[in-house]
Amino acid sequence: MVERTKYILDEADMPTRWYNVIPDLPEPPPPPLHPGTREPVGPDDLAPLFPQALIAQEVTTDRYVDIPEQVLEVYRLWRPSPLFRARRLEKALGTPARIYYKYEGVSPVGSHKPNTAAPQAFYNAAEGVTRLTTETGAGQWGSALAFACATFGLECEVWQVRASYDQKPYRKLMMETFGATVHPSPSELTESGRAILAADPASTGSLGIAISEAVEQAAQAENTRYALGSVLNHVLLHQTIIGEEALKQFELAGDTPDVLIGCTGGGSNFGGLAFPFLREKLAGRMDPVIRAVEPAACPSLTRGRYAYDFGDTAGLTPLLKMHTLGHDFIPDPIHAGGLRYHGMSPLISHIYELGLIDAIAIGQEDCFAAGVRFARAEGIIPAPEPTHALAACIQEALRCKETGEEKVILTALCGHAHLDLPAYGAYLAGDMVDNALPDSALEKSLAGLP
Ligand SMILES: *Cc1c(COP(=O)(O)O)cnc(C)c1O
Repeated sequence: MVERTKYILDEADMPTRWYNVIPDLPEPPPPPLHPGTREPVGPDDLAPLFPQALIAQEVTTDRYVDIPEQVLEVYRLWRPSPLFRARRLEKALGTPARIYYKYEGVSPVGSHKPNTAAPQAFYNAAEGVTRLTTETGAGQWGSALAFACATFGLECEVWQVRASYDQKPYRKLMMETFGATVHPSPSELTESGRAILAADPASTGSLGIAISEAVEQAAQAENTRYALGSVLNHVLLHQTIIGEEALKQFELAGDTPDVLIGCTGGGSNFGGLAFPFLREKLAGRMDPVIRAVEPAACPSLTRGRYAYDFGDTAGLTPLLKMHTLGHDFIPDPIHAGGLRYHGMSPLISHIYELGLIDAIAIGQEDCFAAGVRFARAEGIIPAPEPTHALAACIQEALRCKETGEEKVILTALCGHAHLDLPAYGAYLAGDMVDNALPDSALEKSLAGLP
């Protein structure tokens, strides 16, 4: 019998519902609060920013939400995505562990982000919205939303963190090819941007600043709403298509994961893969260890405070109870741009507090070493973000080599690095520094919590 490398689902077997983990948790996550009153925000508070359908999904207690046919049709451009067995990596490591990875780099923009960009564009268009604003760091989310807006006939306006705008022209060109308008952030176009530039004309920006600019625009302009690519419940809900597919693929493989590992920036690719497995764990049908991996330079889960904080720098968003480094924290310019966010999804934070997942932080040099090792064995060059998950996966596989355990490891390979190759260039040239967050910088930014 041929040893299988890929487990592929037929399009007809693609899941048709997203999974909402909240009703299966022992208690629900704390609600977002209005910054003025400190009362839970209602749907009316969110209506200037999001369409009603997404506000409803943000607070739903239904366990499953049907995926609209128009969204399934877009998903079928690249889904179901493959589950790989990393046989060549296993051999290279000499581990008895069985390693699997769920690969989201097959999407049009090369990451998991279109899984939520497509439904967000669909629901906005269905409610008569004509334009979406958003922020982007390295450009993965901006290009996903630009693609989704092209698909559903919406205008798309993106504030891109200045450092990436200057250093990574290809993502910008991808967004423009899909028809989006891209501004560097901070910009002169918004009050929040002008305030930052007045204080520091050379500001290279941050995700928190870019969010402020995009939110401000959406709140002011006609028929315009805002779209967020991570952190919120509805985003994590949309990403659960990843884990639902992976469960079916594990059935095909006749295997069950003992350890599930994903990288966390705002938590969406991790939650998307992990939540359907967490459902199985809570129901007693399997018992995987579920592990989040974050950069040592931006360690919100492992070193942040679990507190109410703003999602953006200017303080325009509701207060979210989450693991946070403080909303004016500006992380070192590490290469995994998608992991440079001061906070963590409130849902992931809550699940972490409940003790249902664990978390570790790894420095970027070790991560790129893992990325290169993976690329040389499996042929896919991982995006800088999932190298964090792969580094943890290799750690686990090497532990198995010592103990002889035949653990089954599943990891989220949420994107490829074809537009992030300069990061590999820096690693290969020996120019990469491990910049763990100093205690003093953390104390300073935590002091600014509202
Ligand atoms: C955006 C992004 C991330 C970080 O976001 P999460 O919401 O934590 O998934 C990680 N990896 C890739 C490839 C990304 O594009």
